[in-house]
Amino acid sequence: MIQTIEKQTGKAFKLKKGEILRVIDPVGEQVSDMVLFNAQDSREKISAGKTMDFENTILITKGHHLWSNRSRKMVDILEDTNGRNDFLLAPCSPETFQILYDNPEYHPSCFENLYTNLAEYGIQPDDIPTAFNIFMNVQFGLDGELSVDPPQSKAGDYVLFEAKMDLIVGLTACSAEQSNNFIFKPIQFEILRK
Ligand SMILES: [Zn+2]
Repeated sequence: MIQTIEKQTGKAFKLKKGEILRVIDPVGEQVSDMVLFNAQDSREKISAGKTMDFENTILITKGHHLWSNRSRKMVDILEDTNGRNDFLLAPCSPETFQILYDNPEYHPSCFENLYTNLAEYGIQPDDIPTAFNIFMNVQFGLDGELSVDPPQSKAGDYVLFEAKMDLIVGLTACSAEQSNNFIFKPIQFEILRK
């Protein structure tokens, strides 16, 4: 059953070892931030640094794993029809909009949508790590300068993740203007059992 994460919101759910999570961009040009925790011990969580260590690249896609802070495989990326994701930038937060975009007003954010939905699993705001930013198109120059560009994902693009351990998953439809080409759209997902 395909479930929808409405624009600028998030969801949290369990994914058992061996199950496959399909994350879909139903409209196109929409980023989804994903965080993963070990369902038995949420101190073990997704790690951008460990993933780049073991996969030896900053461009994570089909054929790679997402690794934990305890150097264990959390998911295997089975398919990635778009192929561009980001694992450098933190989830957008209230401060992102204040500091980076000079916006003092309330603004929805992935950070808030992750920690509020993950609270039922005992996960606190300070526990939220750098997310795997599905469909996010961060380009970088030879000098290291970053540029957040419109996602290259088209309607129907998806990524398949196979769980290598029992997981708690936090997933959003990202709330940052620049990351989503200035239009907020939903994200969809489904859990496939073998
Ligand atoms: Zn975001």
